[in-house]
Amino acid sequence: MTKIAVAKGDGIGPEIMDAVLHIFNTAKVPLEYEFVDMGKWVFDKGFSNGMTAEAQEAIERLGILFKGPMETPKGKGVKSINVTARKTWNTYANKRTFQTLHGVDTVFSKAGIPIDLTIVRENIEDTYGGVEHMLTHDVALSRRFITRPGSLQLIKYAFEMAKKKGTKRITCGHKANIMKLTDGLFLEVFYEVAKEYPELKADDVIVDDLCMKLVTRPDLFDVVVLTNLQGDIVSDLCAGLVGGLGFAPSANIGDHISIFEAVHGTAPDIAGKNIANPTSLFLSGIGMLRHLGLMESASMLENALLYTLENGIHTGDFGDKNIPAVNTTVFADAIIANFGKQPAHHPRPLIKDQKPTPTLFKLSQNEMMVSAERTDETICGVDMFIASNEQPQEIATKCLRHAGVKFKLVSISNRGTQVWPTGSVYTNLVNQFNVRFESLDGFPLNQQDIIGLYVSLSGNFKICSLELLNMWGDKKAYSLAQGQ
Ligand code: NAD
Repeated sequence: MTKIAVAKGDGIGPEIMDAVLHIFNTAKVPLEYEFVDMGKWVFDKGFSNGMTAEAQEAIERLGILFKGPMETPKGKGVKSINVTARKTWNTYANKRTFQTLHGVDTVFSKAGIPIDLTIVRENIEDTYGGVEHMLTHDVALSRRFITRPGSLQLIKYAFEMAKKKGTKRITCGHKANIMKLTDGLFLEVFYEVAKEYPELKADDVIVDDLCMKLVTRPDLFDVVVLTNLQGDIVSDLCAGLVGGLGFAPSANIGDHISIFEAVHGTAPDIAGKNIANPTSLFLSGIGMLRHLGLMESASMLENALLYTLENGIHTGDFGDKNIPAVNTTVFADAIIANFGKQPAHHPRPLIKDQKPTPTLFKLSQNEMMVSAERTDETICGVDMFIASNEQPQEIATKCLRHAGVKFKLVSISNRGTQVWPTGSVYTNLVNQFNVRFESLDGFPLNQQDIIGLYVSLSGNFKICSLELLNMWGDKKAYSLAQGQ
């Protein structure tokens, strides 16, 4: 028996979780459950992170959390419990599988185009760090973190998973043509890892083109790896290809703790009516069984689900409108009645149980701190982000007075577009500029020089933030402004 933590969640969460556990128990799946307190009602009791200390202890001890959807109270300044759980336990890979299900009609199923796609989305970094500041009353800034160790951890998982699945193609979706440093780093790591897997065909597609191609020929893709926000959007697009969020399971995989949940939310509009579709949570549970090595139970249950769908049994949110919909309980009972049945389309092979994947140990050191720092790193300048509603030439005149003997003013940009020394009168300006100073004639700079400039410049401007301009050897570790 394997013991796992279970949180039923809010809204339709308890209804669909009870249905899924009823199916598991009837099938005698060798699992034991420890129910933990997480979700809206825990926030309401005053726990600001949405879970009790006992829940956190149990999840860290057991390493697996099976959870229903949860609501984050609005307007109380608390962070989403779902995102907190993923980030606290470093479940760095969000794996979502999308497959054609017979009985769930879509334009692709009607056209006979089969879909079997896995999206692997980075789950911790990107703009989901939520590090945001108002620089002026008009200008908000979000910091987008893409790190080498974070990308490496995710992309290694994706390749390993693709190899196990027997995938032929693995694709990186990105926007490295525009975000050369952030998405550029992600793409660079992707191809570094790809070298270790010569048996897999690794390629990349720019994310907007990827969306178009997924909608026109989803059958050409197999495993797709993306950064967090792009992955979030693309995975919902893929849910639409196979019939909606009700059919999209999700696994948040970490080295120590993994979380299995449905992609959809708490569906407050239908909560308490026993009409919700439990398929997404059930498929997530089946993914969890495979993760735990319980292959036989997983295949038997998936075949029973596929057989049920093929026979037209459906809840109100999908299926043939000429066949009356059943409620959540009846849907679960239909799956139970179909235990041992083989679906006509894509039956899952009954393979023997395997050793589970998870390795449970406490972190003694943070391996991600092992960095790729270089010795030939120098500071060659600084970007000062200032608040101002003056014209670029007036700002330049003031800034030139502060450059002193160590700095030269090289450019001023507004929303990433250069407006001084050259630019266009047609560029619209907002009240926040990036003033770029570089070292005069390659004069070596240190942080004290930067602080000296900051103090001087602050006599004329409010400086909202600053970024050092670093050189790694002869490589610029910063981007140029548009038009620079
Ligand atoms: P939602 O997914 O809850 O609902 C969107 C629509 O889909 C609704 O019409 C709903 O009735 C329907 N729907 C969703 N799941 C269904 C199911 N299993 N069966 C039948 N119909 C279903 O999205 P929302 O309304 O934007 O969000 C509601 C709440 O859920 C919010 O508080 C949100 O923060 C939370 N949420 C939680 C998670 C999570 O726990 N991982 C994910 C998304 C949203």
